[in-house]
Amino acid sequence: MQKSPRAGVSGLFAVIALPAFIGLLLGSLSWGLVAGLSLWAYLQLRQTRRLQKWLLSTDLLPPESHGQWGDIFDDLARLQKRHRNKSKDLRSVISRFQQSSSALPDAVVIVDKQNNLEWWNRAAERLIGLKSSADRGKPLMNLLRDPRFIRYYRKGQYEEPLQLPSPLHNDTVLQYQITEFGVGDRLIVARDITRLIRLEQTRQDFVANASHELRTPLTVIRGYLETFLDQPLPKPMERALTQMQNQAIRMESLVSDLLLLSRLEASQHIPDENPVNIQGMLRSIQADAIALSGDKEHRIELDANPNYDLLGQSQELQNAFSNLVFNAVRYTPAQGHIKVTWEVDTEGGHLCVTDDGIGIDSIHLERLTERFYRVDEGRSSATGGTGLGLAIVKHALQRHGARLEIESQPGVGSSFCCHFSRDMLTKTPQSLVS
Ligand code: ADP
Repeated sequence: MQKSPRAGVSGLFAVIALPAFIGLLLGSLSWGLVAGLSLWAYLQLRQTRRLQKWLLSTDLLPPESHGQWGDIFDDLARLQKRHRNKSKDLRSVISRFQQSSSALPDAVVIVDKQNNLEWWNRAAERLIGLKSSADRGKPLMNLLRDPRFIRYYRKGQYEEPLQLPSPLHNDTVLQYQITEFGVGDRLIVARDITRLIRLEQTRQDFVANASHELRTPLTVIRGYLETFLDQPLPKPMERALTQMQNQAIRMESLVSDLLLLSRLEASQHIPDENPVNIQGMLRSIQADAIALSGDKEHRIELDANPNYDLLGQSQELQNAFSNLVFNAVRYTPAQGHIKVTWEVDTEGGHLCVTDDGIGIDSIHLERLTERFYRVDEGRSSATGGTGLGLAIVKHALQRHGARLEIESQPGVGSSFCCHFSRDMLTKTPQSLVS
């Protein structure tokens, strides 16, 4: 096969030269040239038609041809072969992807940038109820109508997954996780976590029941110990009974903290919300903290915005804020400085408790809100803590849609801030009058 462009030029000459020569012999070179050029144009047209016909056909072999057209046909045939191999590879990748995603127990759904359903696997049909042919191209919101899902989807903050009952079976709990990819496309993965939720429920019930059952025997023990200690006793016995009484008191606070935590864990949201007077609540916590500080004489300051209250559950907020303030008292040496502030800005309300106490090493900060996590076991027991304080704070805040931010430096002090969104704020009655 020729590969040089010269072959095309020599072909052109061969086709034109003969008629031109005959024209010259017959006395009209120009007519000869016209005839030669027409013949050449006809041959080109014929080859173009053959090419078109071949491209439209399913024939793998190119039509037999010579010269420059032969090269073109061969090159095109090679390109087509390469293209065919590539699409075969791609088809096999797609088919393997579809096979593996069909085998997944989790529902996988792809949504385009207009929020229409583009693709999903078999588990999505079983768990969410999408129907293979009927739902393709339909808006996702027409099929997943739970307002909590719609709010989560539209908000676009997908760091935390969302738990909801399946739209098909109310007793199945799904955990939705959304990932954005491409330009505005989304991948939704829904996992059946019913078994995990049941296990967690069993754990919570066990803790709640065990704590509840421990209450009565503890009250009886405490009662008898008090009666004994009211009597004149030999010194060693009095010491032993006083120690027993202190431990019984500690166990009582443990049981009551465990019960409180179980109640807070039972649901993710507060059942109803009422305006809570934050300034008043903080004043009363400040008074309690001064009493707790006693002869350690901490300087406990309060600076609260009088114009804004919070919408929430008064008892839960009181528990959370007092835990933070009492911790500051317990972990700040005598005469230390503790400041409680309640501020409001464009982002929401911020309640911070700052102290110049012993501080916490940064390696502990991430795990500080875990149940029974202690930085220093000896010191925590000495201060009378249960190890559940910050876990209670975290859960109480979560139920109010708020978050806890902790900053601390050993030897410098700590700052615990509760951040509430603007929609949890309400104007105080006195700010509305003035
Ligand atoms: P505890 O009952 O042990 O105080 P918490 O959950 O309230 O349990 O606190 C967990 C740990 O965090 C404590 O053991 C303590 O080491 C540390 N901690 C909490 N608040 C402070 C603070 N203001 N300053 C220093 N350490 C603190």
